[in-house]
Amino acid sequence: MTAGYPFSAVVGHEDLRLALLLNAVHPTIGGVLVRGEKGTAKSTVVRGLAALLPAVTVVDACRFSCDPAAPDPACPDAPHDGPAVTRPARLVELPVGATEDRLVGSLDLERALTEGVRAYQPGLLSTAHRGVLYVDEVNLLHDHLVDLLLDAAAMGRAHVERDGVSVSHAASFLLVGTMNPEEGELRPQLLDRFGLTVEVAAARDVDARAEVIRRRLAFEADPAGFAARWAPEDTALAERIAAARAVLAAVRLPDPELRRIAALCASFDVDGMRADLVVARTAVAHAAWRGGDEVDARDVEAAARLALPHRRRRDPFDEPGIDEEQLQQALRDAEPDPPDPDGGPGSGNRPEDSEVDGPVADGGRQDSAGGGDQAPTRPAAVPDPAYRARLLSVDGIGEGAPGRRSRARSGFGRTLRATQGHGHGLHLVGTLAAAAPHQLARGRTGAGILLRRTDVRRAVREGKESNLVLFAVDASGSMAARKRMSAVTGAVLALLLDAYQRRDKVGLVTFRGDGAELVLPPTSSVDAAVARLRRLTTGGRTPLADGLLRAHRTLVTERLRDPRRRPLLVVVTDGRATVPLRSGADPVADALRAAGLLAADGVASVVVDCEHGPVRLGIPARLATAIAGAHVRLDELSADHVTGVVRAARSAA
Ligand SMILES: [Zn+2]
Repeated sequence: MTAGYPFSAVVGHEDLRLALLLNAVHPTIGGVLVRGEKGTAKSTVVRGLAALLPAVTVVDACRFSCDPAAPDPACPDAPHDGPAVTRPARLVELPVGATEDRLVGSLDLERALTEGVRAYQPGLLSTAHRGVLYVDEVNLLHDHLVDLLLDAAAMGRAHVERDGVSVSHAASFLLVGTMNPEEGELRPQLLDRFGLTVEVAAARDVDARAEVIRRRLAFEADPAGFAARWAPEDTALAERIAAARAVLAAVRLPDPELRRIAALCASFDVDGMRADLVVARTAVAHAAWRGGDEVDARDVEAAARLALPHRRRRDPFDEPGIDEEQLQQALRDAEPDPPDPDGGPGSGNRPEDSEVDGPVADGGRQDSAGGGDQAPTRPAAVPDPAYRARLLSVDGIGEGAPGRRSRARSGFGRTLRATQGHGHGLHLVGTLAAAAPHQLARGRTGAGILLRRTDVRRAVREGKESNLVLFAVDASGSMAARKRMSAVTGAVLALLLDAYQRRDKVGLVTFRGDGAELVLPPTSSVDAAVARLRRLTTGGRTPLADGLLRAHRTLVTERLRDPRRRPLLVVVTDGRATVPLRSGADPVADALRAAGLLAADGVASVVVDCEHGPVRLGIPARLATAIAGAHVRLDELSADHVTGVVRAARSAA
């Protein structure tokens, strides 16, 4: 076996290491979500941790890693008569393209029906039982799978239900997910089901960076020798994990500390009670880890720092993370009341006090626009969440990644009918109906129905797919009248929020002055699009044709990268083209030709008509005809909502 990089040899990443160790001590904390850019040694640290976990004793013949001392009574591989073996705790990786079958296991109903065998193929949740489940780029996993994953992590069990047959088995594991926020956020309702979150970044300090490289090179030159040098530290950590586990149940959580936790969570305005429980479990694990037998203020602070950042109530476009000053203030405010009830000026827990200078976030009052110097906690121009941008969708039926925009054939969604061809999962009724007419000819005598493989029918399902929404926004001088442009950015922001909710990828091309620019290459990070849009510069001439060609090139490249994701192009312009492709040519004719190219490629498009003023040329409507797309006036797109958005933007400015 090749030696892995030792956990103790990792430089820096104190928060990440502590979060992992505390989960190793107390797996019901609920896992760790690691946020940060690529190339920050996240997987190295997780692998290192797995090597420190105590070995597990399992029933050799059980595919679900049952403990011989306490086998799972519902285990599909019961009864457990075979010999026991002891093996290291496993590290299981869930690949980002994994299917539901791969994760939770699959019931082979074809075999069950035709051969009469009970065929359940365990998934990765069972392989990870009593070990570590590592999910790189968990934010790119389909919501449905993340949901299954977090359910299993929370309950310590996995359930598989297909076509009326169900299997349940123990699945208790340390869950570690990583994500790069640049590639798209995890939905807030999934985010807060991870126990702890840590932000990681490469060290900025030169000495630390040099040490990282020095150790890495030493490891690569001689992995076994390097691991041997660090073995005493790793062994000590492994022993400390085992010792902390052993005393965990005896650690006391005194009432004042429990109240401190409750006050802390209340002041952070978190949803529900999950945060309080996670902070409490983490504080207990922290006390066990440092060798204490009772939780104190240090344990609560360490727990809060790891458990609260991702739980603040927030909008999709809010920056995640926790303000250190806010945390310190909240810890001071949450200082338990002294035993003397006449405590005097020290007690800072009354609501009047926090109204004045407390860290309590403004829980959504909309009428405080003129309300003094309190820094706004959310971006100003985010549309009212109640507002739904008009749904622009791609016609026909695609096969793209699951989402919420256009119709698509997919493994998710509702069942339409049975087919003998390609489908998703078994269609039981269709299969039985196909077999029924042949029963006499096949010589059926008993109660059981006689099935052949040719009877098997599969389900055709239809769900929704996500798309690539590429915006081509005219930022030229003719659009740049202040009021006009804020209406445009308001409408595009509303569409971006809509795209976020539908799990679309988005991209942004702008054109102004001498040419077009791909300001934001297609990405799942709507936050990045919002940031780019806010920094938009305007003015100059109108190279409309170049803008359309840039959009076309972007879509061609993206089709190679992600062929099944169908694009929707949204062109936002007043049509007043002034820059031709070659000098001397007619700029409008060039723009219409470029539009024809997009139409010939079958790109679904919408032209958002921003023309205004007394003299109208009607070019956006001609553009829509040439591009074979829909023509929508800016005010139709979002009606009174745009004014609302503009008002919000103005009141913040
Ligand atoms: Zn078992």
